[in-house]
Amino acid sequence: MAGDAGAELLVKARVTTVTKSDDGAVNGVTFRHSGRDYTCKAKTVIAADGIESQVARWAGIDSTHDLRDVDICAQYLVSNIDIIPDYCDFYVGREIAPRGYIWVFPKGKNIANVGVGIGGTISGKGGKLAIDYLNEFVKRKFPDGRILAQVVGCVPVGDSLPEIVGDGILLIGDAAHHSDPISGGGIANAMYSGQFAAEAAVEGIRIGDVSAKALSAYQTRWNDQIGKHFKHICRIRDGLFKFSDDMFDRCADVISKMPSEKVTMTQMFKTVLKHQPRLLLELRHLILAGWV
Ligand SMILES: Cc1cc2nc3c(=O)[nH]c(=O)nc-3n(C[C@H](O)[C@H](O)[C@H](O)COP(=O)(O)OP(=O)(O)OC[C@H]3O[C@@H](n4cnc5c(N)ncnc54)[C@H](O)[C@@H]3O)c2cc1C
Repeated sequence: MAGDAGAELLVKARVTTVTKSDDGAVNGVTFRHSGRDYTCKAKTVIAADGIESQVARWAGIDSTHDLRDVDICAQYLVSNIDIIPDYCDFYVGREIAPRGYIWVFPKGKNIANVGVGIGGTISGKGGKLAIDYLNEFVKRKFPDGRILAQVVGCVPVGDSLPEIVGDGILLIGDAAHHSDPISGGGIANAMYSGQFAAEAAVEGIRIGDVSAKALSAYQTRWNDQIGKHFKHICRIRDGLFKFSDDMFDRCADVISKMPSEKVTMTQMFKTVLKHQPRLLLELRHLILAGWV
């Protein structure tokens, strides 16, 4: 779409650092392409280089994570499996995916992305990595499955980065820690933050001011529309960490009896709270904040 809209695209080009003007504002990047080094000047730079963005760090913004705020993920594309293609399946449990979950996301009739995410501080404990949890699950659940592709990586599951703009630069997607703190899903949020950032950059260029102050319109919009929920979601996440497997089973039991049209996130919480009053104590701050 960017190409169709007239953007010039360069593939297999690795950004090696950012360039700055005398006053320290970012005004371009250097990159390596087909064995040669180049410099590209820009009115604004948008860092979309994923988790623990180097582009952000070169610009002076700390994009690193605490290990508690990441999940380590491994995923296979598996064919020749028996699934219901209309449903995404999620499996939770301390034994099968500690501090995370396993997903089966259908990609067709007999084919699905099957993956696992586990807590960053848990990975490696007892010598077990995310891929080991995934192998155990696939072997047990889909013994006849054929593994066609593998992806491994890390996803942010904490609050948004507090600083997502600087002079001449904006951070989006995983670079800005914009994945959902419970699910780790980051594609939709990366698209929203990309759009918000692009619009702020266009406006900055139009008025001839791409300072952090002018670009902070992006930060405000992100916080107002999406980011403000992250703190609450992080607290729910911390509450969920304390759930026993038995508690998850009881919650699932309650939710499975809800009419499907009522299965929204807020309604689910309300229903579970009604049946599991013990949770009221755990999540009282959310109720006091009027969030559920
Ligand atoms: C196994 C796994 C499964 C996932 N499944 C889902 C899912 O089902 N749904 C969902 O919503 N989210 C999912 N996620 C999370 C999702 O992938 C990310 O949130 C999303 O891709 C973030 O998009 P992004 O564009 O910010 O970063 P990325 O997708 O990480 O893209 C960053 C890009 O920048 C490039 N790059 C990095 N450094 C440089 C450099 N110096 N120069 C040039 N290019 C550079 C990288 O090569 C990469 O192509 C999953 C993550 C993992 C690890």
